Amino acid sequence: MAAAGKVSTFRLPPLPTIREIIKLFRLQAQKQLSQNFLLDLRLTDKIVRKAGNLRNAYVYEVGPGPGGITRSILNADVAELLVVEKDTRFIPGLQMLSDAAPGKLRIVHGDVLTFKIEKAFPGSLKRQWEDDPPNIHIIGNLPFSVSTPLIIKWLENVSCRDGPFAYGRTQMTLTFQKEVAERLTASTGSKQRSRLSVMAQYLCSVDHVFTIPGQAFIPKPEVDVGVVHFTPLTEPVIKQPFKLVEKLVQNTFQFRRKYCYRGLGMLFPEAQRLESTGKLLQLADVDPTLRPCQLSLSHFKSLCDVYRKMCDGDPQLFAYNFREELKQSKSKNQKKEAHQESNGL
Ligand code: SAM
Repeated sequence: MAAAGKVSTFRLPPLPTIREIIKLFRLQAQKQLSQNFLLDLRLTDKIVRKAGNLRNAYVYEVGPGPGGITRSILNADVAELLVVEKDTRFIPGLQMLSDAAPGKLRIVHGDVLTFKIEKAFPGSLKRQWEDDPPNIHIIGNLPFSVSTPLIIKWLENVSCRDGPFAYGRTQMTLTFQKEVAERLTASTGSKQRSRLSVMAQYLCSVDHVFTIPGQAFIPKPEVDVGVVHFTPLTEPVIKQPFKLVEKLVQNTFQFRRKYCYRGLGMLFPEAQRLESTGKLLQLADVDPTLRPCQLSLSHFKSLCDVYRKMCDGDPQLFAYNFREELKQSKSKNQKKEAHQESNGL
């Protein structure tokens, strides 16, 4: 009988180690798929601790591979763990874990980029956006080539309150190349400040919780790995559509060493560039000689609000793409030159 006042907790029974699982099921990492495994259960436990209190939580693990993080999540006494893994080779090893944790682990062979998590957990877990986050957590150590496009997709989902955020302000704990983790969390004025910093921080509170040295992985990647925790904000700093913010921020950072008016100017057709950029900066009250990395979230908020008004006043403006204009004017010049040559001019 459990001692009075003690709550019984779930622990996995003794199992072969992850190293043994890798041998048993011949799960050699495929370098071309950037598979780097974490075998040290102290590290996987640490990632899971940083996700928060998972007791009775519903957890969505992306890319479980041989199951190191998966074991730590199960040992955190969760209500349910849903894993989505693309590589079929890992399914039998995960099945073994599922047998050891009856009713707790659901395995999906699928692609995290297309999997519809918004239908996977009970609707009763949904919370109002302004409430505390729901008892749902996303955790994952994915290949770097997947984690960056995925976080952009999920940030758009945060902005639209759909996908994993149909349940409310679902928290995420994900790994990135250390340099990307630093960009995600970089503050105004820092060297690493970039498009990703603004896109993540206008929607979420973002923490680089710790760094895992490359040598902790097998095989060892070229770089160290940053673990980043995201909690969506109750109110985004910028209340404009994601695509509009993305366009403005992307344009701003494309000339990252120049004054900000250079990149912002590319939002406007050449014929009106000077005038419209001046108007944008003046109405947003932003100094044109600040560098992109010196712009704060509140600068970006003002810029996006003014740009939105300019787009509302000129329905063609949002679709404008300076690269298209450049291409068209180049091909016009080429045709003109060819015409002049054929006329012997
Ligand atoms: N989480 C394990 C660990 O920490 O040891 C494995 C990490 S390994 C870097 C990435 C895992 O993500 C691999 O198992 C790989 O097959 C899986 N994966 C890659 N792309 C995926 C995708 N689009 N959807 C689901 N799983 C994916």
